[in-house]
Amino acid sequence: MVAPAPPPRTVRCLILGAGPAGYTAAVYAARALLNPVLICGLTPGGQLTITTDVENYPGFAEVIQGPWLMDQMREQAQHVGTEVINDIVVAADLSSRPFALTCDSGQTWLAETLIIATGAEAKWLGLESEKKFQGFGVSACATCDGFFYRGKSVVVAGGGNTAVEEALFLTKFAAKVTLVHRRAELRAEKILQERLFANDKIEVIWDHAVDEVLGAEDPLGVTGVRLRHVASGAVRDLACDGLFVAIGHAPASELFKGQLAMDGAGYLDVAAGGASTAIKGVFAAGDVTDHIYRQAVTAAGMGCMAALDAVRLLAEEDHAAAHHPITHAEAEKIGTW
Ligand code: NAP
Repeated sequence: MVAPAPPPRTVRCLILGAGPAGYTAAVYAARALLNPVLICGLTPGGQLTITTDVENYPGFAEVIQGPWLMDQMREQAQHVGTEVINDIVVAADLSSRPFALTCDSGQTWLAETLIIATGAEAKWLGLESEKKFQGFGVSACATCDGFFYRGKSVVVAGGGNTAVEEALFLTKFAAKVTLVHRRAELRAEKILQERLFANDKIEVIWDHAVDEVLGAEDPLGVTGVRLRHVASGAVRDLACDGLFVAIGHAPASELFKGQLAMDGAGYLDVAAGGASTAIKGVFAAGDVTDHIYRQAVTAAGMGCMAALDAVRLLAEEDHAAAHHPITHAEAEKIGTW
């Protein structure tokens, strides 16, 4: 017999996503006594849990680890009063307030305000062969899978910070790392490029796209990649034991298609300089709305903004409900909480 769904729970502030944006929003909402509930989603801790060294998050003189930073953020959010739930939202109805969000567990949440901080996830090249060998030599996470390539030869596809960091990280294990980039110039920060070019284990192949993943059937595994010169179309095969795809990320906004405005790539639209969407009471923060900066620290800042916007809205509505219009001074005070 299927267990009946638990009764819906009403919350003043529901936060989706357990990355820097979600946890920071939770800290601010909790300290404003909104008793926020944060639903973690598929990747608790977000993208920082699949990265290693973090040296650009302010406040730490020493290099810190991404997973450790996210543990700290979760503990801080819980310490100030956030309820953190391990569940995945599978349906969202934003047509009226409170907004109704249903989770994989069957639990429905009725939210007076909603902060969407669902982040972004790795993009794939879109090749049939890439799909076939996923988990069998094709990966999007060097931190997770690099260990399996001790003494082997790997290819990294991409030219941004992620690709360069993955290539550098993989040199700890692999004998040879080849970075394949579709242009003749990297998008990655100069400091990372310097480290890449200084590393003897890394070779860069410019102006090439990965056209196909080559592999063996039994046992299933990668044996090489087919590369195509983007200008001439000339094709050549490169032997390798693994392919790491590091070509950027796509925002996790699927749930809100048709309900919230988003750009062509799926990044949610928010008001300039703020976190408000076009629906009153729905806010967005971090990588799900930001395709420009995409840093842990900017996501955290946007999470803070979203929570302050939610706090301000609820305070205004509470005052209006009590027939006591909020004064300018009170609004200012809320804004600087
Ligand atoms: P990104 O900056 O968007 O770079 C994606 C790279 O993949 C680009 O070089 C792009 O080529 C290439 N690419 C995209 N689609 C492709 C395709 N279909 N085939 C082949 N190549 C393709 O993504 P990211 O490196 O994941 O970084 C995302 C954000 O996180 C950035 O803002 C980055 O600064 C940040 N980040 C920061 C750190 C750090 O500060 N330590 C670490 C990781 C990420 P083109 O260059 O030709 O467009």
